[in-house]
Amino acid sequence: MLGDLRKRHQDWAQRRANVAWLEPDELAQRMGDGRYLGGWIDKRGGGVQPLSYARGLARAAMGLGARVHGSTPVRSLNQTANGWRLETANGALTAGKVILATNGYTDGLWPKLEHTVVPVFSVQVATAPLGENIRGKILGGGEVLSDTHRVLWYFRQDGHGRLLMGGGGSAYESGAVKVYEGLRQRIHSLLPEAGEIDFEYAWNGKVAITPDHYPHLHELAPGLLAGLGFNGRGVAMATMMGKILADRMLETAQPEFEFPNMTPRPLPLHFMRGAAVTATRAYYRFRDALEG
Ligand SMILES: Cc1cc2nc3c(=O)[nH]c(=O)nc-3n(C[C@H](O)[C@H](O)[C@H](O)COP(=O)(O)OP(=O)(O)OC[C@H]3O[C@@H](n4cnc5c(N)ncnc54)[C@H](O)[C@@H]3O)c2cc1C
Repeated sequence: MLGDLRKRHQDWAQRRANVAWLEPDELAQRMGDGRYLGGWIDKRGGGVQPLSYARGLARAAMGLGARVHGSTPVRSLNQTANGWRLETANGALTAGKVILATNGYTDGLWPKLEHTVVPVFSVQVATAPLGENIRGKILGGGEVLSDTHRVLWYFRQDGHGRLLMGGGGSAYESGAVKVYEGLRQRIHSLLPEAGEIDFEYAWNGKVAITPDHYPHLHELAPGLLAGLGFNGRGVAMATMMGKILADRMLETAQPEFEFPNMTPRPLPLHFMRGAAVTATRAYYRFRDALEG
């Protein structure tokens, strides 16, 4: 595991990324915990508040003339002589070009698209703001950490000194709720001096997993594109996919952002995805526990 991590660091260093290897003592100093054997930091990285980011993107788009209709699911999508006809509970419209960007929430709007990904509930929690005496101990330099467990843990502080942590997931929303308890124990083990951990916020949502762990772009029909399957890492990737999809629609595609158009491949036995996710998670947890 440590060898893989070193290789990853070396790969990025060879690409002249601003990365540095962290020996256990420096890692322990940054994260207030000595349990990791080593790690690396990408100094180009950082964190965003994703809801503020999404709102900022929407505001920028609206400033350029886009209209946003939230809480308006498209119920049907059909090609007509005049273009694509989209129907919602609140009204209908006809569009020359359509992009489906529904990721883990993909439903049956376009035949079988939902069967190309496995939706998984991902979970995150936020503590109350940490006391001033603790903030400096755990990622006080603004670092965003994720580890190499198969069911990885990731955490950081937000701008108010709350500790945000994610990790684990479930095929079902009811299972996602159970993950909160695991996160509480994890935070307690990292920060025993913080005492009883209360969450100010806890939330979950669906991410979309693909068999190859890459995002997929599909040209489903002329004038109909889809980009999905960000495997829980879509904040940056989905933004980039948005640009690639828009450039493709506007025929302003840039060669450096070339992205393959994949034939949609519905997963066999997709109806058994819940059991498959549950079994895979259990196996991964077992391996993580064995390897420490
Ligand atoms: C708890 C949690 C933690 C995460 N942490 C990270 C992280 O640390 N880093 C990271 O990079 N990513 C993270 N992610 C993943 C990230 O949020 C997603 O990859 C990203 O939101 C994908 O963006 P998207 O626009 O493709 O899809 P989404 O943000 O899922 O948006 C899809 C939208 O499509 C809408 N929709 C669905 N069907 C229809 C329809 N028929 N008509 C109209 N609208 C429809 C849905 O309502 C939804 O608003 C996390 C996700 C969760 C849930």
